[in-house]
Amino acid sequence: MTTTSPNIAERSRNLGSVSGEQSECNGAPKSSEVDLPRIERAVREILAAVGEDPGREGLRETPARVARMYAELFSGLHDDPRLHLRKFFTEKYDEMVLVRDISFNSMCEHHLLPFTGVAHIGYIPNGKVVGLSKLARVVESVSHRPQVQERMTEDIANLLIDELDVKGVAVVIEATHSCMTVRGVRKPGSVCVTSAMKGIFRSNLSSRSEVMTLIYGYGDRR
Ligand SMILES: [Zn+2]
Repeated sequence: MTTTSPNIAERSRNLGSVSGEQSECNGAPKSSEVDLPRIERAVREILAAVGEDPGREGLRETPARVARMYAELFSGLHDDPRLHLRKFFTEKYDEMVLVRDISFNSMCEHHLLPFTGVAHIGYIPNGKVVGLSKLARVVESVSHRPQVQERMTEDIANLLIDELDVKGVAVVIEATHSCMTVRGVRKPGSVCVTSAMKGIFRSNLSSRSEVMTLIYGYGDRR
């Protein structure tokens, strides 16, 4: 049994350190992958359409800034999260591995507004084990694309099934959606929780409650 709650600074150092080995999978996407001028034109259009003057001083650099921001927020579209799981090691360890509180930010595909939160990933290996930071990298990669939280949860679970052939995987994601807080029903503080249980976590109730207890069962968390 391994339980880890990686701290954010440590994780970002890890994420930053891979630039040599997988430069095109991390950090800013190559300019050929994202049409920055096209985004800039579109942003100028939006500003004009809402009644602003895209030429006024405060807004002059905005389209270019927004273009670079979108390139970063959607960088996962040019990244293959499977690559992070292909560096596994063979280990006769068949107890649960759980990484809790992997923070992420993503973009809701319905409103192009951010949703942010944490992902918890638990799995029971079947001979293949990955470094714990790789799970955080998978979350990082999958989160940087337009999507809905439900699909993000499923995608992460399926990646572990496909690449590591795990005996079971449990993915729980908790997130706050800006499209729920700044517009529409305006319900700040509401948290959306989604889960994907596969393999033994789906078929075996006690395995499922064990992983849920490990995610939520610490007195000071909730
Ligand atoms: Zn939305």
